[in-house]
Amino acid sequence: MSDAAARLAAVHATIADAARVARRKPEDVTLVAVSKGRPAEAIEQLIAAGQRDFGENRVQEAAAKWPSLRARYPDVRLHMIGRLQSNKAEEVVGLFDVIHSLDRASLRDALVKAGWSGPTYVQVNVGEEEQKGGVSIGELPAFIASVRDMGLDLAGLMAIPPADVEASPYFALLAKLARRHDVTGLSMGMSGDYRSAVMLGATVVRVGTALFED
Ligand SMILES: *Cc1c(COP(=O)(O)O)cnc(C)c1O
Repeated sequence: MSDAAARLAAVHATIADAARVARRKPEDVTLVAVSKGRPAEAIEQLIAAGQRDFGENRVQEAAAKWPSLRARYPDVRLHMIGRLQSNKAEEVVGLFDVIHSLDRASLRDALVKAGWSGPTYVQVNVGEEEQKGGVSIGELPAFIASVRDMGLDLAGLMAIPPADVEASPYFALLAKLARRHDVTGLSMGMSGDYRSAVMLGATVVRVGTALFED
């Protein structure tokens, strides 16, 4: 087994164990391998091991790396997980399958105008942090309603909890907000905390370091 395959198996085992504890099905959790800053060779090792969902946080980097990989592996799904400029909306349409970072009205409008029709997660600023992207909790009801009204495919909610504090209260909060708004998808959990995210209902975990580094 390659190192990449071993790391992938270990992450899947952790997801399966957390799902078992929470009485969930492991197949209800999608693992997105966050490949930002990683070279094509490292990505290909994970593809060879069976991984198909990948996440990038910059349009420019994704545009440089992914078209050639996609030509060789047409069943790959590419997820946009980072902050998006509205003027990149058209480029995003041709490049990505899923967006996790819809965080404001101007981006919503730009995506609609560009004809974006893929699954879309609304990013919530669960820690109410000024420097962080995401719709505030107070504005979330109106924002979700507008996303639905405009015909976007609302797949769920996404959050990046504040750094350096226990993440699980924020995961529980995001899960509660999703229930309140009748939204099913929950994109939460990274290398340091995806186990607790799965226990608290994550349907998508975004894992980089644990898949690419020993
Ligand atoms: C980089 C990144 C991740 C993955 O982080 P790791 O700690 O390397 O697993 C997940 N989500 C977002 C939005 C990121 O930017």
